[in-house]
Amino acid sequence: MSKRDYYEILGVSKDASKDEIKKAYRKLARKYHPDVNKESDAADKFKEAKEAYEVLGDEQKRAQYDQFGHAGPQNQGFGGFGGAEDFGGFGDIFDMFFGGGGRRRDPNAPRQGADLQYTMTLDFEEAIFGKETDIEIPREETCDTCHGSGAKPGTEPKTCSHCNGSGQLNMEQNTPFGRVVNKRVCHYCQGTGKIIPDKCSTCGGTGKVKKRKKIHITIPAGIDEGQQIRVSGQGEAGVNGGPPGDLYVVVQIRSHEFYQREGDHIFCEMPITFAQAALGDEVEVPTVHGKVKLKIPAGTQTGKTFRLKGKGAPNVRGYGQGDQHVNIRVVTPTNLTDRQQEILREFNDISGNQPTDEQHGTFFQRVKRAFKGE
Ligand SMILES: [Zn+2]
Ligand SMILES: [Zn+2]
Repeated sequence: MSKRDYYEILGVSKDASKDEIKKAYRKLARKYHPDVNKESDAADKFKEAKEAYEVLGDEQKRAQYDQFGHAGPQNQGFGGFGGAEDFGGFGDIFDMFFGGGGRRRDPNAPRQGADLQYTMTLDFEEAIFGKETDIEIPREETCDTCHGSGAKPGTEPKTCSHCNGSGQLNMEQNTPFGRVVNKRVCHYCQGTGKIIPDKCSTCGGTGKVKKRKKIHITIPAGIDEGQQIRVSGQGEAGVNGGPPGDLYVVVQIRSHEFYQREGDHIFCEMPITFAQAALGDEVEVPTVHGKVKLKIPAGTQTGKTFRLKGKGAPNVRGYGQGDQHVNIRVVTPTNLTDRQQEILREFNDISGNQPTDEQHGTFFQRVKRAFKGE
């Protein structure tokens, strides 16, 4: 039987410290513990990691493994290492790592319900100003008929006689390391520790029913893409009288054809005519808060940005208000009439095809020099 290298399984180097080995194992054990991970190969991966840790986590066994590999010393092998009793099976892992019996998976212990996630798409302006809305979410709730017990009214669930209510069965297994006692989920009661002789007809014995529930949501003004709102206690129903989970509403924002948002600031591109740019003008700029008059100074170039203070989004945490940044784009006129062309030609003749402005003078000088350098 070819086996993977124990160091490789745990993902640590050959000279890893005891602590690193333990940490690496903890991580894998949490990831693949069959109570947590329902993938079909999780149990195998868990066992593999456990086996690697049983050897590498013990100085003596590790030294032997380093020297002899999987085979173990000649004629001795690893068979002698039981390790099973003090290590238990799947079930004990939580005791080991999560501090004593507090987190032991008692099937009758109250457990919090699952959290739910709901994605809400908002219009650009809805995100700026916030809104109140009702959403409908399908979720599991405690069955009203049996109040979550799963038993027909007037009857009681019985303690599972196969596991005596623990929800686990001991499975003995022979391994290269000796006999290992594994705790497995009891398949008679599916780990609940209870058998229901007369099932509730409303929920079929699960104690839960799927319902569409209407929930009122308040979207705060200034919420941004990807932010989420936590609605406490609106997740799925808890188990064995545990509290319900929470609902998380994740916000997506539709893009807008004129505005772009960056944090609390809004950006837009404002086209002006060639004449407005040259002569100056007062233009009206749309903002989410209504039209705003903006003075364009004579000689404004494309790329010039003006700031409209306080015309952005409110900060979602209440820290002030963003601005709107207006980026000017000068549009070259097209489809000119004969008269327009005549005037522009005259304009061109008068200005001698040279920009008059000092700054742009040097700009054109640079272009000229570049031609000479050819
Ligand atoms: Zn059972
Ligand atoms: Zn029921």
